[in-house]
Amino acid sequence: MRLRHIPGAEEAISTSPYVIQEPALHKGSWNQVFGNDNPIEIEVGMGKGRFIMELAQKNPNINYIGIERYSSVLLRGLQKRAGLELDNIYFLCIDAKAMAEYFAPGEVNRIYLNFSDPWPKDRHARRRLTSPDFMAVYDLILAKNGVIEFKTDNRGLFDYSLEAIPEAGWQIKAHTFDLHHDSMNEGNVMTEYEEKFSSMGNPICKLVAGRNV
Ligand code: SAM
Repeated sequence: MRLRHIPGAEEAISTSPYVIQEPALHKGSWNQVFGNDNPIEIEVGMGKGRFIMELAQKNPNINYIGIERYSSVLLRGLQKRAGLELDNIYFLCIDAKAMAEYFAPGEVNRIYLNFSDPWPKDRHARRRLTSPDFMAVYDLILAKNGVIEFKTDNRGLFDYSLEAIPEAGWQIKAHTFDLHHDSMNEGNVMTEYEEKFSSMGNPICKLVAGRNV
């Protein structure tokens, strides 16, 4: 995601009714924020948020939280959100590394990672959202049967993830190197990046991971 400083972005985020300002206050009680006990699903690195907002429209009985660390990017999502009548989605402007400060053990049912930054240099491997460091964070907040869904067109990051996720103690339940020509594509909701890269002819990879049982 190309970053530009957008004047007023931080103020818009800090006053938006759609952005939870002090997420730590809701650790263990997100059901009260949503006013129901529906399952909670999170997209980490939501960007402009098309994917998670479409899911929220399609699945009113699931609660969604979009996480994006840059206010200038999240602002674009908020503009889109303003035109939608939804009561099952909120956003957090945080670094996902800190998620365990905001969610209690087992509070989250599913985590989506879509077109995460590849961080191709070895010395940056720990910043990849499928690295053992991040998998350990997800482990702290995911329900026992919780799953992680990861899509990317970056084959290097995908191959890394197919190795790193099992090494971190998780099981790859399913994967494909060409989602749009695979049965895993049923019900697929496209992200902004997915539309852009697949229209350039790049195959989209997807994996679903869960705990070893
Ligand atoms: N998921 C969207 C899509 O598929 O169209 C956006 C993909 S974009 C390449 C990755 C996004 O993840 C960027 O907006 C970036 O700021 C965000 N991101 C990366 N690392 C993050 C982190 N540790 N915490 C929160 N957001 C992060």
